[in-house]
Amino acid sequence: SSFDINNTIKLVVQSFEGTCQEKKISFELILTGHTSFVCADMSKIQQVLYNLIDNAIKFSNPDSTITIETTEKNEKVFISVKDTGIGIPKESLKKIWERFYKTDLSRGKDKRGTGLGLAIVKEIISAHNENINVISTEGVGTEFIFTLPLKQDKNEAIV
Ligand code: ATP
Ligand code: MG
Repeated sequence: SSFDINNTIKLVVQSFEGTCQEKKISFELILTGHTSFVCADMSKIQQVLYNLIDNAIKFSNPDSTITIETTEKNEKVFISVKDTGIGIPKESLKKIWERFYKTDLSRGKDKRGTGLGLAIVKEIISAHNENINVISTEGVGTEFIFTLPLKQDKNEAIV
């Protein structure tokens, strides 16, 4: 089935409104500027966005901004969730997808969590035959980018 990814992003972001007011985190949404219909399982993609945004908030300092961006390229939508938080040490970058893995930076108090969020994210994106990548610098921030297939415009064939 298909749905507008930009609309889904807005809805998931809204669900974090309370948490973000408490922590003074704000969002910057840079979306494609029109509807971007993707072919995917909407509730599973909501879960992906929820897990990535939950991490971005948890590992950011108060008074920071989380940027979510969508861009279309080669029949795909690229979705980026970017924070300016604690970052991920280089030696941990491959391990974060494993169940129960947490980096040394994230073991302190108020960094709750069992280490399952990203394992679920990876599983969902793989089940869609898509990719997710992470770019991170310790102490600077982290960006997760994943792809989804754009719904092909059926009218194109009719001309
Ligand atoms: P859960 O998601 O089950 O509540 P969790 O958030 O600790 O627990 P994951 O979401 O799987 O687990 O993330 C695994 C680990 O990867 C985190 O504990 C943290 O060390 C690191 N990590 C994930 N996202 C970020 C991020 N945005 N910034 C810094 N570190 C991150
Ligand atoms: Mg998590």
